[in-house]
Formats: sequence, structure tokens, C-alpha cells
Amino acid sequence: MVIAVASGKGGTGKTTVAVSLALAAAGTSDSRPLLLDCDVEEPNSGLFLDIDYTFEKKTGVPVPVVDPDRCDFCGTCSEVCVWNAIAVAGRKVLVFRDLCHGCGSCTLACPRGAITEVTHVTGLLEGGSDGLIDFARGTLNVGQAMAVPVISALLENYLPVSDERTVVIDSSPGTSCPMVEAVGSSDYVILVTEPTPFGLHDLKAAVEVVVGQLGLPAGVVINRDGIGNSDVEHYCHRQGLPLLARIPMDRKIAEVLSDGTSLIQGLPEYRDMFIEILEKVKESER
Ligand code: SF4
Ligand code: SF4
Repeated sequence: MVIAVASGKGGTGKTTVAVSLALAAAGTSDSRPLLLDCDVEEPNSGLFLDIDYTFEKKTGVPVPVVDPDRCDFCGTCSEVCVWNAIAVAGRKVLVFRDLCHGCGSCTLACPRGAITEVTHVTGLLEGGSDGLIDFARGTLNVGQAMAVPVISALLENYLPVSDERTVVIDSSPGTSCPMVEAVGSSDYVILVTEPTPFGLHDLKAAVEVVVGQLGLPAGVVINRDGIGNSDVEHYCHRQGLPLLARIPMDRKIAEVLSDGTSLIQGLPEYRDMFIEILEKVKESER
């Protein structure tokens, strides 16, 4: 089962939940869980694990290169590019590689076969294990704008897996393309939020995307329970969204996390909470 952990905004505890969920799954199955950190702009799940990395691969986008001897500057490539990543200016073809999505349309459309493609490296995939779980992450290179190709390369590299294996995806925060790409291939989405007006606002946006647009089953984990009010709970009730767990506002949790230790390894009394979340999620599949 592939479980994505997402949130309407960063800083809600998404990574805390994803890491603890993967570690909790390690004790409940014979097959080693896989944690995929798809938050490629800030892949920090690995900070809470002691990973021995054994795999490394550069990833990128195939961008066009124009042969000036073949090109007749007809402008067809520019017309088919919906991203405005290629333009013809007089007797010059300009390629804006940071805008290029690597779709290949210009290459196919060029009537003179003047376009070839080269890989523009935009990120790095790394994988390994800490003995309990397998782990992989994608990292978007500094200065690069497009997270989606790195996320899709990571998912393509590691999915699908065998049916018995639990996969946890630490998604990009927010509700834009990187989040959609990260959660799109999952069977269930856990939305992490805080019980505050801001948390509720972003939760609603995430529910609209995950449930409303993608049609995926979802449940909610309230983090820092005890602050704010009960509006998130009422909203979940009205929407029929299962409330999977409440993680209390607890200074001990902050201390453990700031020390670089995962929640359930630093505070083992929380392990049962995450095993219960897994059971509820798996139950929803039946
Ligand atoms: S479509 Fe091909 S021939 Fe036409 S301008 Fe683009 S690269 Fe040149
Ligand atoms: S590969 Fe796609 S996005 Fe890139 S320049 Fe060509 S048409 Fe545009």
C-alpha cells in the first residue's frame, strides 16, 4: 500500500508523521517499508534516520538543442510549446531551458529534424537503508525551479513495489503541482494539519485537491493538538474525513525532533499511535 503524507502548508509536522509511520510499519510486516522523500525542495526526512546511502543518480529534463544548419526558422517549435520555452527571433532559435518541461513536442513537430535533446540536470536521487526501512529521496538542485521532474523520476525509480510492502511518501507541502505529483500514485493520503484557523484554511485547500480533484481517500492527523480550537475537528466530521490521530502539543516532542531523532524512536510511547494510524488506513482499503 502506498500512503502519502501531505499538508496544505509546510511546517505542520508532515515529515514527523511520515518518518514515524514508516518506522512503525517496520515492526508490523516481514517486508521492509520504503520511505520516499518527495519534498524535493527540502528533503529532510533523512535527518531523522541513520541512512547508509548505496544509490545515487543524477536526474534532469531533456531540453532541445537546435542544429542551425538544418533549421529554416519556420517557428513551428515555438508554436507548439505551451510553456514558451523556445522562441524564434529572426534567424535565431532561443531555448529557455529553465522553462522547458522536457515534453518533446518541439522535437516531434520540427519539420526539418533540426532538434535533438540533451539532459539538463536538475536534481539528484539517492537511496539506501538504515536497517529498519529502505529510504530514498530526491533533491532539486539549487537555483532550479521545477520540482515535478525530480519527483516523478524518484517515483518511477522506486514504484511500483510488491503488494505486501508499505510505502510512505513524504509529499511536497502545499497544493500545487509538486504535491499533486507526489500524492497522485498513492492509495491513501494522510493530511497533517494544526487545529488553528490557518491550519483549517490550508486543510480545506488540500482536501479540495486530494479528495475533490484527485478522488483519493484521505484522513487527517491533527498535530499540536491543544492549541487553537475545535473547528478542524468539526470540519472533518462534516466532510466525513476520518480523524486518524491527534499528536499533542508537547515540549518533549519538540526537544526530540530538534535533536534529530524521530518521534517514535525518541518517545517510544507514541509508537502505538502510529501503528493504529496504519491499521486505520489499511482498514479503509477493505
Ligand atoms: S521547428 Fe525546427 S526548423 Fe522550425 S524553427 Fe524550430 S528548430 Fe527550426
Ligand atoms: S521540450 Fe516541450 S517544453 Fe521544452 S521547449 Fe520543447 S515543447 Fe517546449
